[in-house]
Amino acid sequence: MSSTETSQALKVVDAFDLDDELRTILKPGEMVRDSLGRRHRLPRYFYEITSHEAALATRLTPHFAMNELILNDLKEAPRLQQYPRYVPCAVRILAFYLEQFRAACGASVHIAVNGGYRSPSHKLAFDATPHLWGTAADIYRIGTSILKTKELIEKFNEIAEDLSDDIHVLPYGHTSGKNADDHLHLDLGYMMHIPREISEDRMEQPQESRPRFAFEERRARDRRAPASED
Ligand SMILES: [Zn+2]
Repeated sequence: MSSTETSQALKVVDAFDLDDELRTILKPGEMVRDSLGRRHRLPRYFYEITSHEAALATRLTPHFAMNELILNDLKEAPRLQQYPRYVPCAVRILAFYLEQFRAACGASVHIAVNGGYRSPSHKLAFDATPHLWGTAADIYRIGTSILKTKELIEKFNEIAEDLSDDIHVLPYGHTSGKNADDHLHLDLGYMMHIPREISEDRMEQPQESRPRFAFEERRARDRRAPASED
């Protein structure tokens, strides 16, 4: 990877300034209910990813690129299957925890399609899962282990839970959303991240004359190390 690719500054946008279609899809600031009826406010500040190449080149940590956390299929809203793509800024924190988890497992960690960020308009977004905040990952393989057995899912769930009280996992089971039998779900709850470079605005409406965005200063250490081969 060349240094020009890795030094790209991430653009942060206030989703209230995006066009009508994107605001309808991303629902910034709206309240949604989780499976237990508790309300949570959807994120407002997003990274704008201009192209597939940029998604591949944007390394959030040494072993996780933006691309891996925005892999979606036709279940995602059509507009979000095109670039520019938008992902809540907390995805950076998820990547940090995934990097720690990878180290604790001592093996590569593979995210499923639709297993990272999903918009509130994604067909799998029945309720307020942390996937809508960019703070959850569905992992289908660790090293050479395909996570389809109770034994493997419980083993890696334990490693994830031992890592930090911030991490929540779903137990092994067959009810979608409540537990998992073909992947490991790990999340950080309804965490939001507001990069220091953006100025927060109390106006929850488009500011066409003065769009709210900022470029993150380069986090040198985050982008320094290239991905290793699996
Ligand atoms: Zn999940």
